[in-house]
Amino acid sequence: MRVVLLQPPAWRLEHPAGTIADVLGALRIAFGNLVRAHLREGTELGIRCADVFRSGGPVPDQLISAIAHDHLRQAAPTAFLLEGHPQNTAQARALDELLHELGTPLDRVLHLHLSEHEIERRVRHQAARRLCRESSLHCYEPEEADLPGNDTCEVCGGELYQREDDREERIRGWFRSYDALAEPLIQYYAGQDLVVTIDAVGTHEQIAGRALTALREAGR
Ligand SMILES: [Zn+2]
Repeated sequence: MRVVLLQPPAWRLEHPAGTIADVLGALRIAFGNLVRAHLREGTELGIRCADVFRSGGPVPDQLISAIAHDHLRQAAPTAFLLEGHPQNTAQARALDELLHELGTPLDRVLHLHLSEHEIERRVRHQAARRLCRESSLHCYEPEEADLPGNDTCEVCGGELYQREDDREERIRGWFRSYDALAEPLIQYYAGQDLVVTIDAVGTHEQIAGRALTALREAGR
């Protein structure tokens, strides 16, 4: 099965894409990893990306599509789970064209949905996180939104601090950006009747199991 994955910025360290790909028996293609590989290897596409990053401008659709298409042409997977691409409808159209040309059109777009309540819970949980200045191993992650009683590490007495990326406003911003990105894509793919939406709460295994069931049902 060939699937594009739309997932909210909900998992701080590891998200369930790997588990979903395993359950589907599909090759996991993470767009971010493709870009990093090009940068690392200093390919022509990598050099073009580095130039754009240096200038601080947005990466043009053409360059983004070239990176994704280059990989899809070379790997030519019959089954894949593509994450992080496409990011807008222009890229989605270009991807459709390529996949049709390769004779491997998309089967589904899997949309991992989080309720407002769940988003709120995750924002509060992450925003309550504190790290110790003395050791990255001393990490405080309260289950509830309550902040630690004081700002001292219980292990070593070091000062606790909040990472910039754990600031509530920043986390909310990521969710807003994701909504702005996902909405037009969902509409675009809904026009092709490809979208399968599942609830993205629970363990990675539970989410992957739900995805497999929903994709099978949609395939009937
Ligand atoms: Zn400490």
